[in-house]
Amino acid sequence: MKQGFVYIVGAGPGDPDLITVKGRRCVRRADVILHDRLIHPGLLAEARPNAVVIDAGKRFGHEDQQQAEIHNLLIQYAHDGAVVCRLKGGDPFIFGRGGEEVAILKAAQIRFEVVPGVSSFTAAPAAAGIPLTHRDYTHGFLVITGSRSAGFDTAEWRAARDLIKARGTVVVLMGLARAESISASLIEHGCDPNIPAAIVSRATWEDEQVRFGTLGDIHESASGLSSPAILILGNVIAFGKEPTPHIS
Ligand code: SAH
Repeated sequence: MKQGFVYIVGAGPGDPDLITVKGRRCVRRADVILHDRLIHPGLLAEARPNAVVIDAGKRFGHEDQQQAEIHNLLIQYAHDGAVVCRLKGGDPFIFGRGGEEVAILKAAQIRFEVVPGVSSFTAAPAAAGIPLTHRDYTHGFLVITGSRSAGFDTAEWRAARDLIKARGTVVVLMGLARAESISASLIEHGCDPNIPAAIVSRATWEDEQVRFGTLGDIHESASGLSSPAILILGNVIAFGKEPTPHIS
């Protein structure tokens, strides 16, 4: 019996040219493509004409229920001998539940490979001309999710606050809806409201938007923006504000 195989592929942040060569090869060869929301149609157009293309992001139900359904489909198709491309936004192991999918495949003894992708946490700052590190500004950065930890009283948020106070760079994913409470909590815990801040909405998509401000006022820009969006905090943003010549 033909054995199935699952490629867990990072599709990149949006622009279909920002998938890796290997990722694109997986998309082109798969019998089944099981993709998240926000995968560029131009990339899905690369699928074989007879490939089964399933939009897992469109399925209804609670997030956990949806994830369970994705696990079932992966196992089912792989057991049927299909080459499956599980196409996920950005990098599959950055806040994408890719780790859970790998665990399920291991438990079911299904062969798989993880194909990394360009994560939005690097693509969004790059689109806005903001280097995450810069020898004159900061020697490190931290990436955190804004959607968990209701009270911001976690080890990660404590580390984020310390880094912001030290003028380092902090990148917040899934923070658009909570931008105001994120800023308020950071300021309440002693972060300077004048720290430069930026929001990049829909980085690398045709309708990308960038807003600059400070920790104290950036939430005011957040209200009109579409998700997905990334919040960036830190002195490197001062650098991003300088106009840069574009070569395309
Ligand atoms: N695995 C993905 C992240 C999934 S979590 C990755 O590596 O990029 C979803 C969050 O990613 C969104 O809430 C948003 O904060 C961020 N995001 C994804 N694509 C984005 C884009 N094109 N522009 C800005 N933020 C993006």
